[in-house]
Amino acid sequence: METRSEVQQPAEVGLEWDTPLYRTAVAQYEEALRHADVSVAVARRLAVPERAVMVSVPVCLDDGEWTIFPAYRVQHSSVLGPTKGGIRYDRHVTLGECAALAMWMTWKCALLRLPYGGAKGGVRCTPRELSQAELQKITRRFTSELMPFIGPQEDIPAPDMATNEQTMAWMMDTYSMQKGYAVPEIVTGKPISVGGSVFRAEATGAGVVMVIERACGRLGWSLPSLRFVVQGFGNVGGIAARELADRGASVVGVSDYSGGVHDPAGLDLAALRSWITEQGSLAGYPDATNVTNPELLELDCDVLVLAALEEQLTAENAPRIRARLVAEGANGPTTVAGDEICAERGITILPDVLTNAGGVTVSYFEWVQDLGRLFWGRDEIRSRLAEKLGDAFDRVWELSDQTDVSLRSAALVAGIREVAAALDARGIYP
Ligand code: NAD
Repeated sequence: METRSEVQQPAEVGLEWDTPLYRTAVAQYEEALRHADVSVAVARRLAVPERAVMVSVPVCLDDGEWTIFPAYRVQHSSVLGPTKGGIRYDRHVTLGECAALAMWMTWKCALLRLPYGGAKGGVRCTPRELSQAELQKITRRFTSELMPFIGPQEDIPAPDMATNEQTMAWMMDTYSMQKGYAVPEIVTGKPISVGGSVFRAEATGAGVVMVIERACGRLGWSLPSLRFVVQGFGNVGGIAARELADRGASVVGVSDYSGGVHDPAGLDLAALRSWITEQGSLAGYPDATNVTNPELLELDCDVLVLAALEEQLTAENAPRIRARLVAEGANGPTTVAGDEICAERGITILPDVLTNAGGVTVSYFEWVQDLGRLFWGRDEIRSRLAEKLGDAFDRVWELSDQTDVSLRSAALVAGIREVAAALDARGIYP
């Protein structure tokens, strides 16, 4: 007779979002549950998202062609407060990807003790091939379709891959137009002129480096003496690289979608940024050795910062990674098998739910400022962020020590326990 684990759902529940990434999120969740001490009912409830919305976004492109873009929003848990999470524009966006990312957002918000649950959404499109006018049309129609499901007390979007403060300004404007008054608190990551927060744009990348710095403290390493490779040179990776260089560390490799560049003596980041501004990507950069993205991950370095995509560190390449520490700036960049191989090889992984939590933390500060119509200064935000990340880091490190589990499992256990305690107290409705 078929048996099923205590947490497992009947096969038909969750079929819609069953993808490799969602399976990774669930596998990590189930592994963490072994140490989280939560009831079966709560464990089952949190194994699937509360709500998943699929819409289709019709847009007349600049050449007069009509295209219908599939788009999604998944809300994983509203137990602790409104749901919160990014909107990404990417050709690989699926319901399953959003479901996995929404679940990780729940654990991340709970770990940081923010009064939110997790959500994620996106439009399946190739943003580099779309003009600003086309992106604006996609954003406004997508926001209109989501009107019944989002709100400052329901679900608060933010930027993610290939979306930025302009995207958030269009979302805020569309929502506000339909309400009839300005509602800055509907999104975070907006321009400062419409209620955005200082330091939000840098928060994720800066937070990644704050977490690395804290880890160096525990490991007895001196950050300025370390060599870093950073995959992804966008909002997260670009800022993280700059913050590392500001602290005196050597950034020996970086990459974007077009490939990577390597210089064992350290790269000139300002020159790289100018090149990208002029040329659109790193391709053809003349003053360093060109490498492919797979080669970049295997370069000789002390710390590998993954700040591009999911599923980059896998069973295939983990045996050849030369870094001693991996910092997950991206969400879900390591597969379950990649994780196991790194553990066997003694490579420490600073997990995504902790390492990239700077973004959602300053998003929370932005939302609080918008609701209170009272704005804080840059130094105050930076120091509040450092305090929150430091506190979460210490709790995760100590839990990992006490229970002899990986930092990832410890971070998930800490997050899951927060949500489970709230759901236990509230009870599962009805
Ligand atoms: P971004 O679009 O600003 O930058 C992404 C970078 O990755 C770009 O440099 C892009 O060229 C590069 N890239 C794309 N495809 C690649 C490939 N195949 N190989 C190598 N590089 C590739 O996006 P971002 O906001 O920096 O987000 C990056 C990751 O960080 C995502 O996983 C996102 O979910 C996560 N994240 C972002 C934030 C935030 O506040 N922006 C917060 C938390 C987590």
